[in-house]
Amino acid sequence: MVDFMQAKKEPRGMSIRYVKGVGPAKAALFEKLGVRTVSDIFYFLPRRYEDRTVVVDASEARAGTHQAVKGRVLKCSLFRARTGTGIFEITVGNDSGRVFGVWYNQPFLSKVFSVGQEVVLYGEVEFSGRLQITHPAFEISGRDKNEESLEIGRIVPFYPLTENLSQRDVRRAVFRALKAYSFSAEDPLPTRIRARKQLVDLKFAIENIHFPHSFENLDKSYRRLVFEEFFMLQVVMALRRKKTVKKGVPHSLKDGVLEELENILPFELTPGQKKCISEIQQDMSGAKPMYRLLQGDVGSGKTAVAIFALLLTCRNGHQGVIMAPTEILARQHYMTISKVLMPLGLNVRLLAGGMELSDREKVKKEILQGDADVVIGTHSVIQRSVEFKDLALAVIDEQHKFGVEQRKQLMKKGVRPDTLVMTATPIPRSLVLTVFGDMDISTLKEKPSGRRKVVTYWTSADNRSSVYGLIRGEVESGRQAFIVYPRIKEGEEGSSTRSTEEMYKSLKKDVFPDLKVAMLHGKMGTSDKEKVMKDFVAGKHDILAATTMVEVGVDVPNVSVMLVEHAEMYGLSQLHQLRGRIGRGKHASYCVLISGDDSENAGERMEAMTSMDDGFLIAEKDLDIRGPGEFLGTRQSGLPELKFGNIAKDFSVMEEARHDAFMLVEEDPELKDERNKGVKDRINEMFKGKVSLQ
Ligand code: ADP
Ligand code: MG
Repeated sequence: MVDFMQAKKEPRGMSIRYVKGVGPAKAALFEKLGVRTVSDIFYFLPRRYEDRTVVVDASEARAGTHQAVKGRVLKCSLFRARTGTGIFEITVGNDSGRVFGVWYNQPFLSKVFSVGQEVVLYGEVEFSGRLQITHPAFEISGRDKNEESLEIGRIVPFYPLTENLSQRDVRRAVFRALKAYSFSAEDPLPTRIRARKQLVDLKFAIENIHFPHSFENLDKSYRRLVFEEFFMLQVVMALRRKKTVKKGVPHSLKDGVLEELENILPFELTPGQKKCISEIQQDMSGAKPMYRLLQGDVGSGKTAVAIFALLLTCRNGHQGVIMAPTEILARQHYMTISKVLMPLGLNVRLLAGGMELSDREKVKKEILQGDADVVIGTHSVIQRSVEFKDLALAVIDEQHKFGVEQRKQLMKKGVRPDTLVMTATPIPRSLVLTVFGDMDISTLKEKPSGRRKVVTYWTSADNRSSVYGLIRGEVESGRQAFIVYPRIKEGEEGSSTRSTEEMYKSLKKDVFPDLKVAMLHGKMGTSDKEKVMKDFVAGKHDILAATTMVEVGVDVPNVSVMLVEHAEMYGLSQLHQLRGRIGRGKHASYCVLISGDDSENAGERMEAMTSMDDGFLIAEKDLDIRGPGEFLGTRQSGLPELKFGNIAKDFSVMEEARHDAFMLVEEDPELKDERNKGVKDRINEMFKGKVSLQ
């Protein structure tokens, strides 16, 4: 039962089944479209509009144009074509001109129309011996005495539909909801912001987004709704950021730490690394917990930056942890990091699923007692049984492989630890503000000098043998090769593609019988994987046939050639990641993409890979081609559903909205001000309690 008193006061939250003419059956259909309440229908965005404002007399109808044609019904006929199809036809007009309206298989219309009615038909006027419109939209004047025409004589909205719900149904429901309740569309945007930005008010905006009086009004309304959406999103970001105002662990001791690191590293830090280090040091020395994203292209040297943060936390007497997405990567980090930090007197420990149980137990104990200064691990570090004595720094490597939840779980291992999130997939700024809008950002632009550019080619499968020739040549001059396949076994999904197991056998037996070929994929046992990788790093294998496992972080400088089979199956950023595994040594390196798909889109992507080398530009292009959801991948939740704004296209609006949102939260961090009540309510409505405002 609806509480009518309540509905009168708060109709926005009321179910649309109570909107005149909707009812429970249609309301259920609307729900499939995500429209449940009156407010949802206000914010239900049409997909497109048709300009049906001009209505001409039947005598002025012209073939070849879309027109709204008005006239009197002169004749109605229902008959059957020779093919058996039922046809209903009306003749509309007068002595000076007539137009026919024709419908197939809709006999019930013979009960709707009758001679003498004044009607308007809309559609494309065709000429076939006479002027006619097939399946026109129509209005019959005087039929609905109290209601305006929604189909003709205006700019008409077209909505997303679902089965059994027609455009007519939706238009009618929207119109009635607006008519009855738009008075309740109180504007959530503070007046001062609206005035400054010259935005129309909400009532105007929702009326005109559905039934615009002009295209100019439509534009204004759309702009306002986009702003509002981004604004609310950014208020949430600002609130989250404020929330971390609580005191964290200040790393006050900082003198000499950088020098200590510089003395032990086998290379000079690049200016970019130094800049990121200083930003991190700044954050870590403050009382507020660090929450920072470090993004840098593959091979830009993020690990060294992370090592600085780890050393700083240890020198302040605390513990640090770094979590990596795969065991191979964790082990590699363990090797690199212990080489640097052990000589400085720190205890670096590895915690990974593949370790002996007793070793794991031992490490856990050391973590709990504070004997382990730095812990490096896989997901295993977020298990409940892992407890730190005093965790003050959490580093997450290759964050795109983790979900938001896992990130949080790691942070919970300490009391508001400083957090550094690293990503090798550069994220375009528009997405950074949307998904990581509550974080500070450090960017490593340049790569350590001396690194060679990877030469990239793409080719079709016909040229595979010459690619094998290139690989053989590289191996003969002492280098190694990766060959990447999209799946592990025969008969898995996408069975028309080559598999790692099958190709491993064929490479070994038929193609490179004289060379040492090994295989690596995710379903192998941990110790097998580890052994293969270790032997490969030691140069005991020439060629590694692998799945995209090699994508994340693996560092083997002697590999100078990579062949990616079925390259069309990957996004640009992922290809760039894969390619980033080579070109790490002093040798010229080659990446060859074999694409089995000659569609234009695949060709465009392959071209992009051969011509572009900058991960940031590639990311922009990738976002452009695939859209934000695909770009971030399924693991990365945290992408808000946007109804109006387009992250890429409306980016400048996002920046403006962000600015205003952060100012508002600066002034009123808990949204207690009565003037900001609308903002608070709208956020609750938009995110349905999915974001906490506390
Ligand atoms: P990523 O940013 O992809 O994680 P890494 O941190 O693994 O990159 O670094 C890639 C390689 O570059 C490593 O072999 C590392 O030793 C080397 N490296 C990092 N910083 C420098 C530097 N300043 N000068 C020379 N080599 C560096
Ligand atoms: Mg890395």
